[in-house]
Amino acid sequence: MRRLIEYNHQTDRSRLVVQAREHLQILDLLEAGDNEKASDFLYTHLDTVRGIKTGITDRSAYKLPQTQPWSLHPPSSTDRPESNRKADPVKYARVETHGATRWAALHDNHFRLLDGSPYDGGRPQGPELAPDDVRLLAPVAPSKIFCLGRNYADHRSEMGYGHDVAPSVFMKGPSTVIGPGDNIVLPPRSMSTHVEYEAELAVIIGRTARFVSAAAAGDYILGYTCANDVSARDLQRGDPHPTRGKGFDTFCPVGPWIETELDPIAGVRLRCSVNGTLRQDASTADMTYDVPFLIEYLTGFATLHPGDLILTGSPGGTEPLHPGDRIDIDIDGIGTLTNSVVSDERS
Ligand code: MG
Repeated sequence: MRRLIEYNHQTDRSRLVVQAREHLQILDLLEAGDNEKASDFLYTHLDTVRGIKTGITDRSAYKLPQTQPWSLHPPSSTDRPESNRKADPVKYARVETHGATRWAALHDNHFRLLDGSPYDGGRPQGPELAPDDVRLLAPVAPSKIFCLGRNYADHRSEMGYGHDVAPSVFMKGPSTVIGPGDNIVLPPRSMSTHVEYEAELAVIIGRTARFVSAAAAGDYILGYTCANDVSARDLQRGDPHPTRGKGFDTFCPVGPWIETELDPIAGVRLRCSVNGTLRQDASTADMTYDVPFLIEYLTGFATLHPGDLILTGSPGGTEPLHPGDRIDIDIDGIGTLTNSVVSDERS
């Protein structure tokens, strides 16, 4: 519902300034099914809700649709410009071969090395390499990793949270990143005894981005990959800020490669299995804040650089991890990211 309010504002080309109290009152009215009263409230409190003076007196400009049901779903992919779609879909991987780290393109389960990075328009060169000829690395080396908390209603609920008044954004450091097949190292038990997986779709930024509108966001996306926002839940809940609980080394597995052709707004299936048992199964269409919105939101205050990551949040079904566990995160159209869990040697 909040997204619909925000998009309603965007039709006026205005910047949204979230004012918590007014938004929550509107949400309460919408949830009670009283769209007429919600429309009146939005009109009456427009300046406060948007945080700016509009001078607009046309009440109909802010009339909310009266049709039911209201939906948290983002606009469909058909609302997005064609430029969001890549003309030349390809999978990009970072690989180690003959002791060197190289970019490669993946076609039909074979790799061809690139003469540069995909951010710089690297082109395939040389012979095809079989999977056994390369070792997959994390497909990104980000300068920063933005993460969305509570971006799926079922996870928000299982964590005991209600409505958020704004996107819940936090960061993980670059030292959290590991690649396919690397081990997630649990913290020493003296620090944490409760670590959980969170399967998430990750966005890889392809161009330097600042003040990018949602409509133009696709031009700044290189592609997508699987990610695991590993979380020390006891520290996350006990600390005044989630930085430590989310920030241990190895707590951000990503991979296995970058898929350039994916439409998460229309919805792709995201699954997580632990030791072969399905634990999470969701559609990316169920995100509260979709990818274009997140890029507009984040680039409104920070410059995103090529290779930077946005983790878009976990659906429900997160559970504790134990040494020896194997986690498979599978996203349709991308592939499977597999990592195992080990204890810290100092435990
Ligand atoms: Mg998460």
